Amino acid sequence: MRRIIVAIDGYSSCGKSTIAKELAAYAGYTYVDTGAMYRAVALYVLRAGVEVSDEEAIKQMLPEIEIGFVRTADGQHVCLNGEDVEKHIRTLEVGNMASQVSTLGVVRRFLVEQQQAMGREKGIVMDGRDIGTVVFPKAELKLFLTASAEVRAQRRYLELQEKGEKPVFEDVLRDVNERDYRDTHRQESPLRQAADAIVVDNSEMTREEQMAHVKQLFADACSD
Ligand code: C5P
Repeated sequence: MRRIIVAIDGYSSCGKSTIAKELAAYAGYTYVDTGAMYRAVALYVLRAGVEVSDEEAIKQMLPEIEIGFVRTADGQHVCLNGEDVEKHIRTLEVGNMASQVSTLGVVRRFLVEQQQAMGREKGIVMDGRDIGTVVFPKAELKLFLTASAEVRAQRRYLELQEKGEKPVFEDVLRDVNERDYRDTHRQESPLRQAADAIVVDNSEMTREEQMAHVKQLFADACSD
């Protein structure tokens, strides 16, 4: 079977990373969570105390930022300049900052270049917002995942609770809606479905149903 690139895009909290991780493990492919890369940049900017409006200052900082991934017993973690920052990047605050820094062209170009290099050998499952449209417009399999805002907010709410945070459902829902708006309305690489992407709406699907569907799409794409 030929090795391919799988591009998975979609709104925040619609289960992209769960599907992408499972598919990568099943296929023996490398998984790349591009959202984690934007979150790592956001954490760096937050720690430096720089305003998102100061694009020039952020541009100056980018060469100081090195992002990598390490495998740990509980999955893949993102590293920022050698520090495992996985637990620091999954907060609402960093998620919000990530959504803002990702509107900056300099940040997108910085990360897209690294993402494209990771796919040179194929055998990769990458998830994000612009993977099928900008990073790998020629990916052999493109999936566009979606679910209703309420379903996604409920999932995110439970995730935050499990991490020991005390979220308020209305705040999480507002956050999901705001991020959707920013992701689809920004000038630089707005979230949109590639013309040749296959839409998977998982509002009413169990994880197992969805996985079976995706594995079938993957098998079809590999044998094309
Ligand atoms: O997917 P995740 O919620 O971790 O992504 C964090 C933020 O990074 C998103 O809100 C989105 O704005 C941004 N992002 C992006 N392009 C990607 C991946 C993430 O703009 N490829």
